[in-house]
Amino acid sequence: ILGYSEVLQERPDLADRTQEFAGIIADNARRLNRMVDDLLDLDRLEVGQEPIRRQPVDLGSVLSEVATAFHPSDATHHITLEIAPDLPYITGDRDKLIRVVSNLVDNAVKYSPDGGPITLVAQREGDAIHVEVRDQGLGIPASDLETIFDRYARVDAESTRRIRGTGLGLSIAREIIEAHTGRIWAESEPGAGSTLHIVLPIPVIAEPRSSSATGTRSPRP
Ligand code: ADP
Repeated sequence: ILGYSEVLQERPDLADRTQEFAGIIADNARRLNRMVDDLLDLDRLEVGQEPIRRQPVDLGSVLSEVATAFHPSDATHHITLEIAPDLPYITGDRDKLIRVVSNLVDNAVKYSPDGGPITLVAQREGDAIHVEVRDQGLGIPASDLETIFDRYARVDAESTRRIRGTGLGLSIAREIIEAHTGRIWAESEPGAGSTLHIVLPIPVIAEPRSSSATGTRSPRP
């Protein structure tokens, strides 16, 4: 579907209206493709068939990369980074963590239709790194704060009904974060904005036998 609709879009001999329809077909084919990919990924994650790499990951650089890749469709959204210096690395799958943060940023943009700042924060809290994605958008009612992480769950409100989505993004995010033995949750003041939180543990590296028995934190490689 995608291939042929793209060919039709490029054909100069076709009427503008026909090309416009071909563009709509192509857009919808892409959406369907993303949805099928998300469903398959979610199934694989749920049954533990999706391999999670275990490599040192600098979450600060994950946030910077997502912010750099962000191309606002309008000038009303802008991203600010607040990354604490010298964050210890965590162990995990960088690509999958980028996917999670990108999804949270996409949501922050989508559910702030009037624009506003989006802030990405990473800081150390005890034995973990705490990441936050904050927006000043529509917010999430208290009754939905838990359920939005369920498959297909979407907030059923007048303000969000027109905003496109499948309700799969946050369930994929939760599977990925839990596969990293982390936690993800939402906090919100409806009408004032939302903050999505992720906490990921800093790995303990065993001391060499000769020194004290207590563990130390991973150094930056
Ligand atoms: P989708 O955005 O495709 O519907 P998600 O699983 O990413 O699916 O999100 C589930 C629901 O959670 C959304 O439909 C929306 O109602 C709500 N939501 C997620 N992030 C935000 C946010 N930053 N602000 C307001 N609502 C949000």
